Amino acid sequence: MNPLVVDVSATDGAARTGRVVTPRGSYRVPAFMPVGTRGAVKALDSADLGDLGAEVVLANTYHLMLRPGADVVADLGGLHRFTGWSGHMLTDSGGFQVHSLRPKVDDDGVTFASVYDGASTRLTPESAVEVQGLLGADIQMVLDVCASLPAGPDVLRLAVDRTSAWAARARAHFDRVERRPEGQSLFGIVQGGTDAGLRTESATRTVALDFDGYGIGGLSVGESRAEMLDVLATTVPLLPSDRPRYLMGVGDPVGLLEAVALGVDQFDCVAPTRAARHGSLWTSTGPLHLRNALHARDDGPIDAACPCTTCARWSRGYLRHLLAVGEPTAWRLLSIHNLTFVFGLMDEARAAVAAGDLATLRARTATVWGS
Ligand SMILES: [Zn+2]
Repeated sequence: MNPLVVDVSATDGAARTGRVVTPRGSYRVPAFMPVGTRGAVKALDSADLGDLGAEVVLANTYHLMLRPGADVVADLGGLHRFTGWSGHMLTDSGGFQVHSLRPKVDDDGVTFASVYDGASTRLTPESAVEVQGLLGADIQMVLDVCASLPAGPDVLRLAVDRTSAWAARARAHFDRVERRPEGQSLFGIVQGGTDAGLRTESATRTVALDFDGYGIGGLSVGESRAEMLDVLATTVPLLPSDRPRYLMGVGDPVGLLEAVALGVDQFDCVAPTRAARHGSLWTSTGPLHLRNALHARDDGPIDAACPCTTCARWSRGYLRHLLAVGEPTAWRLLSIHNLTFVFGLMDEARAAVAAGDLATLRARTATVWGS
């Protein structure tokens, strides 16, 4: 095990900023991790991510184990060399597919149908550790069970029990597996839906296994924002203060800042890049829908306050045209804009925590985006 130490430089209430120190170096927190599902953030490459200021990139185990195969990635030098990315990387475990692809789950593991050819694919806590060892990211996640919300008490109880049992198996196997990079870390995941008692139990059982960091899973799956924040308020104080806390699957502007205020360190979400590809741009004055006809003859940038290369050079009218005719360049330029916005928001969050004034940034963001 390789505990990732959070070097906290400032706090503001429960919020904190600083660096997570790793064998690779360190990354600043709070951090947003863009999602490179199949080894690339859609429409972008690793050089783009570096230019944008990304410090941690997520890749998806489920997709990469199917195509090209974890052994192929390992033979090509592991994810960093394969993708040409020298910053930090994290692989999810495939657990979210338990939720999104409705596979068969039993006490021993989970069986999915491949999205590529329908072939039956099996993941167990042990094989998820082995596959992520071959992929070779800096951080791997345990295989967990994520229940869709709303869920009944029996469903949530089973998800917590299986997640805890699987975490113990993953933790034990992690120390035995041979083909993984030296210094790779393993994060546990807290489940429990919106039930405060189950969240408390899941956090306690997961922390008892002593992971390098902790994911908070099973959120952004149908619950209200208030319910999500209640869960975070219950869960985060139960996690060790010297380890990273990772809220999985949340990336909207208000959600990010509210979670930062409750002490979360890092986030991943496809929302900024997916929204960009649909022409929904995130700006300093709120969302902008580029497909709207009123932008057709607009010579101005998406956001005059944005420092990105897209806003510096191209007009709403041009970008709208590229999007409307399906030019792949539109996806690239609009993704660069939305990621610039999110990374900028995290820069502001870190500065606000350091200044002890996160409340002002939260209030301003809630005014612009709605709560
Ligand atoms: Zn921009």
